Amino acid sequence: MKLFLDIDGVLLGRRRPGSQDVCLAKYALPFLEFANQHFECCWLTTHCRGDAAPVFPHLLRYTPPEDHARLLELTVTVLPTDYRTFKTEALPMHEPFAWIDDSPTGAELEFLRERGWMSRWLWVDTREEPDDLLRARKWLELLLRVSRSEVE
Ligand SMILES: [Mg+2]
Repeated sequence: MKLFLDIDGVLLGRRRPGSQDVCLAKYALPFLEFANQHFECCWLTTHCRGDAAPVFPHLLRYTPPEDHARLLELTVTVLPTDYRTFKTEALPMHEPFAWIDDSPTGAELEFLRERGWMSRWLWVDTREEPDDLLRARKWLELLLRVSRSEVE
């Protein structure tokens, strides 16, 4: 299954809620490891418009130097996507997917609602909820169990 990943507010959070101090979110590395093992990960972020290259300097800027190599290893295989106005343009129409984002626009949420796809999106906000990637992982685990039981 494809997993669409936002960066700002998801993989990058804040050191403390309310501060302006951006940092790699807590649990981002184990989260990416899990995501890569079980999903076909794709970027869905303003930093990737058909080309994933701008993602890396953006992520590395807020990542401690000792984690750079591990972060690159875990993100180099994440696929690029492209969209013009709404992130939902990049979502697949005919296959299940999961999307993690802190702030879809009203139009993007409407797109999901109209198709009955709201349950494919998880709101995560690591700026306000520093542990949110743990919750995201639990949600993905549940999604995997449900999709496996549908196949059986
Ligand atoms: Mg965001």
